[in-house]
Amino acid sequence: MAAILKACKECNFISEDDTCPRCGGTTTKEWQGYLAILDYTKSEIAERMSIKANGRYALKVR
Ligand SMILES: [Zn+2]
Repeated sequence: MAAILKACKECNFISEDDTCPRCGGTTTKEWQGYLAILDYTKSEIAERMSIKANGRYALKVR
């Protein structure tokens, strides 16, 4: 089975780790919505969410 994906409470970055590999924040399994940013420089959503790197993000983190 695939590992459980978790989202960072600080930056919404999705990973399989207990701490965010990007910002060191706490991650949680309680998240909704999946957003893949392939080119954040061209993404309006990335700009709105202040995303400054490509990757997978959660839309909502509880
Ligand atoms: Zn983070």
